[in-house]
Amino acid sequence: MYEIDDPKFRELVCRGFSLEELERRLKPALFSADDYKKDLIAHAGFGDFSQEGFIGYTENLLQTIYQDWQTVEKLGTSHKEIADALENPRRLAAGYEFEEPTGVSGDQSCPWGCNKFGDHVGIIKKKGVEVLQVPLGVEAGITFRLAMEMMGELKKDAVAGQKEFVRRIDEEMVRIRKEKKPVKLKTKFLYAPLTGLLPHLICKHHFFEGRESPYRTDPEFLIRAFGLGIYSRR
Ligand SMILES: [Zn+2]
Repeated sequence: MYEIDDPKFRELVCRGFSLEELERRLKPALFSADDYKKDLIAHAGFGDFSQEGFIGYTENLLQTIYQDWQTVEKLGTSHKEIADALENPRRLAAGYEFEEPTGVSGDQSCPWGCNKFGDHVGIIKKKGVEVLQVPLGVEAGITFRLAMEMMGELKKDAVAGQKEFVRRIDEEMVRIRKEKKPVKLKTKFLYAPLTGLLPHLICKHHFFEGRESPYRTDPEFLIRAFGLGIYSRR
């Protein structure tokens, strides 16, 4: 692999974009849903930006990709091998299982503009971890807390209460995403969310999503779950 300051490494990551432009495309929404145009500009014209972001507000893309690359090499496998394994998400090592998604989500396109799309596919998790125990980022907790708070409002006036609920969530999400502190997911070895785009992101862009994104799949978790590299039984 390359050194982090090797221009070839930067070229491989950026693929024709400037690093600044690419990082802007990958960052979370900065404005509330009513200000789509502002966000479009903030995301360097990439209209399909992710609300929660592929990386956090202050995350360094080169560093993220570099560190994950080190993990992949250290554990004796390759990005291609991991991406290939993801094509059969049920073929897992003992102790892991795949679970279909319960909700519906939208298609996400590749931020590098490759014309690749993918939907939420499911979750790979340690056996015995209940779906309800799987936190899909901080958002779920916030939504729940707000919902409890808003119950009173809803009882008073259902229509106005619902409107207020949506507005407050919107506001709260923007605030949380702007917080500088990275969200430390202690659950990195419990589960990995899978999208149809992930094999492409890993294989073509060496990207597992940022450490501050709720959609990140930890490379070490995947390598263990599929029994690749040093975890292979051969
Ligand atoms: Zn791509």
